[in-house]
Amino acid sequence: MLDSGCRSNDRPAANSSDPEPGVSLSLATQRAQAIEGLRYELSFTIPADPTQPISGHAVIRFGTNDINRSVVLDFSPGADHLKSVSVAGRQSQYRLVKDHIIIPKEEIASEDNSIDIDFRAGDASLNRNPDFMYTLFVPARAHLAFPCFDQPNLKARFALELDLPSSWQAVSNGIESFHETKDDRLRIRYSETQRISTYLFAFAAGKFQIESAEREGRWYRMFHRETDAKKVERNKKAVFDLHASSLKWLEDYTGIPYRFGKFDFVLIPSFQFGGMEHPGSIFYNASSILLDESATENQFLNRATVIAHETSHMWFGDLVTMQWFNDVWMKEVFANFMAAKIVNPAFPKVNHDLRFLVAHYPAAYAVDRTAGTHPIRQELANLDEAGSLYGAIIYEKAPIVMRQLERILGPDKLKEGLRVYLKEFQFSNATWLDLIKILDERTDLDLAGWSRAWVEEAGRPQVRTLLEGDHIGFTQADPQEGRSLRWTQHMDVLIGSGNAVRTIPVDIQSERAELKIPADMSKRDWILPTGGGLAYGDFMLDDSTRGFLLQHLPELKDPLTRGAAWVTLWEEVMDRRVSASDFVDLSMRALPQENTEQNIQLMLSYVTDAFWTFLPESRRAELAPRLEEILRSGLDRASSSTTKATYFAAFRSMVTTPAGVGFLERVWRRQEKIPGLTLAEPDEAGMALDLAVRSVPAAGAILDEQRGRFMNPDRQARFEFVMPALSDRRETRDKWFDSLKDVKNRRREPWVLEGLQYLHHPLRAAESEKYIRPSLDLLIEIQRTGDIFFPSRWTNATLGGHNTRSAADVVRAFLAEHREYPIRLRRIILQASDDLFRVAHAEGVRGN
Ligand SMILES: [Zn+2]
Repeated sequence: MLDSGCRSNDRPAANSSDPEPGVSLSLATQRAQAIEGLRYELSFTIPADPTQPISGHAVIRFGTNDINRSVVLDFSPGADHLKSVSVAGRQSQYRLVKDHIIIPKEEIASEDNSIDIDFRAGDASLNRNPDFMYTLFVPARAHLAFPCFDQPNLKARFALELDLPSSWQAVSNGIESFHETKDDRLRIRYSETQRISTYLFAFAAGKFQIESAEREGRWYRMFHRETDAKKVERNKKAVFDLHASSLKWLEDYTGIPYRFGKFDFVLIPSFQFGGMEHPGSIFYNASSILLDESATENQFLNRATVIAHETSHMWFGDLVTMQWFNDVWMKEVFANFMAAKIVNPAFPKVNHDLRFLVAHYPAAYAVDRTAGTHPIRQELANLDEAGSLYGAIIYEKAPIVMRQLERILGPDKLKEGLRVYLKEFQFSNATWLDLIKILDERTDLDLAGWSRAWVEEAGRPQVRTLLEGDHIGFTQADPQEGRSLRWTQHMDVLIGSGNAVRTIPVDIQSERAELKIPADMSKRDWILPTGGGLAYGDFMLDDSTRGFLLQHLPELKDPLTRGAAWVTLWEEVMDRRVSASDFVDLSMRALPQENTEQNIQLMLSYVTDAFWTFLPESRRAELAPRLEEILRSGLDRASSSTTKATYFAAFRSMVTTPAGVGFLERVWRRQEKIPGLTLAEPDEAGMALDLAVRSVPAAGAILDEQRGRFMNPDRQARFEFVMPALSDRRETRDKWFDSLKDVKNRRREPWVLEGLQYLHHPLRAAESEKYIRPSLDLLIEIQRTGDIFFPSRWTNATLGGHNTRSAADVVRAFLAEHREYPIRLRRIILQASDDLFRVAHAEGVRGN
């Protein structure tokens, strides 16, 4: 229990040489150079009641080559959580500053330092629930719970002891070495781990069931809380098989056996991520591992992928770890890359190239075309900002770049280089540049130059197609003035003539590349440099190809070519070489003929954007009846439930005609059914909100009735939170928005975002414009108090519904007034307002 007696050493002192809050790069660099042989012995006493404190004890042992400097530990919970600190058995004259405990240099020796700390654990990263708890320390949240050096490049051995209610189970990175039940308490000790980073140290404890299985001489254990025994039975064999086959594949590929001893994994209800790669103890979101009988092929593919992804991290991320979180993208990109190699062959019916295209290119372009884009590799001054690194450039652009790298090197050389890299840096840390150096020795190409353009700088090349007699030329230019970057890349250029299509590989390295037109293609109809689904950039089509696609795109035979053509044509819309109206017309002609689910999803998402943001209101009204008819017939025609769900979501999002809204209302009232589509509670709640934002006459009654329909109390609470944002009374909406200024009302971020999206719905945009400025004014505080994705989602939800010049002016004025604004937040605003600026600019050009 917490000792609340007085302590002599907890005055925060203002000393100019004190470390800044968080974990700064300079502190981390200094410590990584000085500290050696780091070991932690940690113990936690965990009560069953999640409101009762967890007490902890830490022994931190290390040597240092810098005895002229005090030692700075990271610990956030503050003075009332710290009971005693002693060094080498003597009480320490430590000082406490924000986020740190400073041990005076006089108490530190060059070898065998041992710091003993009694503390109460901070709960912020311990995810405490009534029957279970689990740690989640990525990216630097271990020091929110216990004192440590919380940086990825101070790897340490962790020994752990847990004192738990006797009915609980527990799992951690290490092997259980001691287990004793006494009265109503259980004590478990885990043997020391290999050297791992703090963000990878983990344990989970609580009422779990354990399944185990042996595969090729290795035992695997699955911890879970599923009550449906049949569901567990149905899934477990496949889940163990997938882990075992991923592990074997990785051992073969890397040439390095699995190095973390035992292999357990924990299925956690409503886990924050899909999975987290703690060595020896992977955590997963339970619902993506234990699938229902109705699971689609996509869900099976996703499950295999997440298992392969986390298992890949045992080598990429866990064995070799980034020096600093600026390179966090590397472990993610390699885990994805390996997962695709491991899993895809087992799903031969899926068009994996198309899936890759649809999953990565549109999202990467949506950021990379904006003034707020940034390099894959970003600078990071302090780990407390690590959250803002994550986004489409890391998750979607980086995989595209990695695929290019494999094309350039060839799969064998890449594998060879990765083996050297893993071997050289195992149980240690490395940077992207360390890897590039290894790979550079294996190619004639200037890989450092390649990396500069693709990884260390922001943006994408502008590529033009030029028709020159019997040649086709491709030129590239850097859109950013004064930089003159050249992006080396491999393109599969497609040329079409009548029914014939030829794929011609072209490498572009300098300003220009060209290809000779094959004799049988002299009467070509179209040239698509992106056609093979590989090339990345802002592509300007030649006029005849553009004209051809606007007529005949739906007739292209190959689904990947069609997907690539849609992506390229949308970029032409963004650059105003194709009108949004023509794009929507073409899509409406194409949808009835398209039978590939991936392409239907792609087109519907572009059409939704075009409809609400890029079409003038008059054109919207003109198009609506036919568009709704097409969406409804797509809904009838679709053969899979996922395609039906895609069409229905698009319909709900774009419906505006009285007939269409009437249909939606009948479905919500359960007077009409959609054959083959089961609508669950969240769908009905969404429909009720969609009807309300369209101001149907019965809006108020519909919301009230929906509130009474809920079986699930969490969903009901969320609905009640969002309701006022849809009120037909302006004062109610004002009050709801004002309430968000209090952090307490922003805690449930998904609820806030849903409300904001309806508040700023395009149909309500004129009335909600006044909320833009105060929302931007709050952004710094949102970043300070919110979770990692909240600032960008908050900004997107605020600006996504607007498309007028006056809304754009509000954002411009804000940016102009805040020239010294934090750069990452500025980028977030520039990303979120990009569409708005494009439309407003077009309006200006049209002279309205
Ligand atoms: Zn990952």
